[in-house]
Amino acid sequence: MVTAKARAVDGPDKSFREAEITRRELDKNDVLIEIKFAGICHSDLHTAHGDWGEVNYPLVPGHEIAGVVTDVGEDVTKYKVGDRVGVGCMVDSCGECENCKAGEEQYCLKGNVPTYAGVDKYGEPTQGGYSTHIVVVEDFVLGIPDSIPLDKAAPLLCAGITTFSPLNHWEAGPGKKVAVVGMGGLGHMAVKIAHAMGAEVTVLSQTLNKKEDGLAFGASSYYATSDDETFEKLAGTFDLIINTVSAKLDINAYLSLLTLNGTLVNVGAPAEPLEVNAFSLIPHRRSFAGSMIGGIRETQEMLDFCAEHDIAPSIEVISADEIDEAYKRVMDSDVKYRFVINISTM
Ligand code: NAP
Ligand code: ZN
Repeated sequence: MVTAKARAVDGPDKSFREAEITRRELDKNDVLIEIKFAGICHSDLHTAHGDWGEVNYPLVPGHEIAGVVTDVGEDVTKYKVGDRVGVGCMVDSCGECENCKAGEEQYCLKGNVPTYAGVDKYGEPTQGGYSTHIVVVEDFVLGIPDSIPLDKAAPLLCAGITTFSPLNHWEAGPGKKVAVVGMGGLGHMAVKIAHAMGAEVTVLSQTLNKKEDGLAFGASSYYATSDDETFEKLAGTFDLIINTVSAKLDINAYLSLLTLNGTLVNVGAPAEPLEVNAFSLIPHRRSFAGSMIGGIRETQEMLDFCAEHDIAPSIEVISADEIDEAYKRVMDSDVKYRFVINISTM
């Protein structure tokens, strides 16, 4: 058993505090990872704040994990000590249902085991990456390409795959007009990835404050959604819209921006319902869809794609004592564009 240093939170309105957690003894297919960096995803905030329902505290969030293998179980074949690896939003699944067999473990029919705020097959609560070590079964560990530094690799494990997967599934590419709503952690990765896939990318942000960055990330245009003229001007324009906003939006206004047969994919996960008017969908055969992270095989594909296209998140590295401050800034949409905790400061 390994004792890991961690940062935990004890309730929705509480600050992070130092904690110690134990990681299980290595089973034969397990990998022990010394965590070097952990990204802060808005889902960590939703969970810590209890937005999505009751949570068992103390909670150690973190599902954008990058580190180095320090020990392996006797039957492990995919990784060895010293390998640079990552762990994303899930650490296990049944492996037997049709979705798992199809490589879509995130949609496991028995429910995947989330990296934190879940229960593993031993009946123990899972705790996430704001910690020095984690033990994960090798099938849920990803290899990080050599050209991607570990601090920048971390956010790819959630923000990267959550945007890559719908862009891939709905075939963003040459000749496709893609809009990204919200340019935070997920949104800025969506811009970079969609651009690398060859699509024409537009950012729809609350203001024009980050326009220069958006264009540098690969967008060809950038509009403020606080300006009503944006919606008039762009009506019927996009084949695909990826909504990454963490709060409730007027979805009907965004559906009006889709072309014939266009799809709006919601990856943002606000607690409040999003109301859809039937007549926002019917007249132009539009679709309103959702998408959750991506499977393990697709996550590896995304990492390799990012290495090949020289894409990485734009990050701000913080120390373990700055998590509360970072949470405040994420809530204020003041993030450029992902906070990443340097775990060595624990
Ligand atoms: P983030 O870094 O906080 O980015 C969200 C962005 O949304 C903000 O930067 C802001 O962009 C915009 N925004 C925030 N509040 C808004 C409001 N009231 N009205 C309009 N726009 C607003 O969050 P994130 O880490 O990218 O996560 C985004 C959402 O995706 C969260 O709900 C998270 O839980 C969810 N998520 C889902 C999955 C999945 O599998 N589906 C995976 C990971 C995360 P601008 O400043 O550009 O307007
Ligand atoms: Zn996430």
